[in-house]
Amino acid sequence: MTDFDIGIIGGGPGGSTAASYLARAGLSVAVFEGENFPRPHVGESLVPATTPVLREIGALDKVEAAGFPKKFGAAWTSPGGERASDRFGVADLAFAEDEDVLGGQAHTYHVDRGRFDQLLLEHSASLGAKVFEGARVRRVDFDGPHPVVVHASGGGESSTGVRMVIDASGRGTVLGRQLGLKVSDPAFDQYAVHGWFTGLDREAIAGRDAMSDYLFVHFLPAEDSWVWQIPITDTITSVGVVSRKSRLREAAGDREAFFWGALDHRPDLAAALRACTPARPLQVDGDFSYAMRRITGDGWAMVGDAARFVDPIFSSGVGIAMHGARLLCQDVLAAAEAGDFTRARFERYEENQRRGLTNWYNFIALYYRLNILFTVFVQDPRYRLDVLRLLQGNVYTAEQPPVLATMRSVLETVENNPDHLWHPHLGSLRAPAGTPLF
Ligand code: FAD
Repeated sequence: MTDFDIGIIGGGPGGSTAASYLARAGLSVAVFEGENFPRPHVGESLVPATTPVLREIGALDKVEAAGFPKKFGAAWTSPGGERASDRFGVADLAFAEDEDVLGGQAHTYHVDRGRFDQLLLEHSASLGAKVFEGARVRRVDFDGPHPVVVHASGGGESSTGVRMVIDASGRGTVLGRQLGLKVSDPAFDQYAVHGWFTGLDREAIAGRDAMSDYLFVHFLPAEDSWVWQIPITDTITSVGVVSRKSRLREAAGDREAFFWGALDHRPDLAAALRACTPARPLQVDGDFSYAMRRITGDGWAMVGDAARFVDPIFSSGVGIAMHGARLLCQDVLAAAEAGDFTRARFERYEENQRRGLTNWYNFIALYYRLNILFTVFVQDPRYRLDVLRLLQGNVYTAEQPPVLATMRSVLETVENNPDHLWHPHLGSLRAPAGTPLF
């Protein structure tokens, strides 16, 4: 006998989306979330790939009604400190440029993850999922006829028998660590320091009112370093510095020194930010690039960050978690119908994730290796729409989207020709040619 059909570890976007799909299809679902919501979380800017999923689980109207700032596009500014409107070394893209924008609406959202994640978790409960908050999963026992989720809540330990476990524990990576499947990424070792600020004049930075609620990525002159600017409310802006972890040592491990030291390379931004009031203290996130040797097994599957995380440069994480949950649930429902939760049942999901995450990985690796290539492709009318489609999260259908193949071949030309105009712009971060793992 089992207590629930499906046990889900973690109530972030991956877990609550999976819970919504499965509960509304009639399965009994338990979500074990270690925290009590709302809780803060990094990852505040969504991509359009989330829209069809939100619509399908019936949560899009709730998200729209919650009044999160609408994200109509993204812009990149260069270390010279030019404003986006100057169009020098700068690119911007509007989702509306793609008539077939994912999800059929020209905007997605920037979200306070405390509110967004709570909204989605409550939505899954409204569809019938049983949500246990403050229930931290210690391990899953696979020794018996079915998996048993062992969780600690209210000072005691409890066990819940399920037919299948979905690990959506994010960077907690419960099953990845328990089963010894987690592998650090060989190339990426980035580090982020971020906070919320009240009073940043986003319109002045954008140079155009229409772009003031875009996601802004400000390049820094130091290699592999950039700053995100994400609207949280009309007055609050999330700002994060991402750079090599080794630079933390240079800052003597001091997060304030790491953050302001990096920003001082963009005096315009640093001055604008120093004039603001901190709305939330600086937080740190590191060691976030890893993969798993595999992401499914008999009676279990991983989704979202629990399965893999590459790098936040393209704001892809929440989209990957929600899209992955959607795909996985199709396989889980078929498995439940057949009464068979063995690994072979999740092959389609695993294959789809391998393809999509390989494409994301290659796109991100190209970006870090030759930054200028990305900017040039965005501005080139031949490739602009294809790059926009990648940025929306449209990465799962093709083995290698043609625009990525073209970028790779240009990169090879630049790498092989020391006299190439762009050769001096090559970064030193070199990801392995074939994406490792699962
Ligand atoms: P999570 O959102 O992490 O949810 C996992 C949940 O599991 C949490 O609520 C946690 O409390 C719970 N949990 C963990 N361990 C246990 C346990 N043992 N028992 C029970 N519960 C547990 N993504 C974007 O889309 N846009 C961005 O702009 C963006 N920026 C980022 C910036 C940085 C610096 C980083 C590191 C990531 C960023 N991401 C971004 C990625 C994004 O944060 C994640 O990809 C996304 O949150 C993944 O969702 P998830 O549901 O898989 O995991």
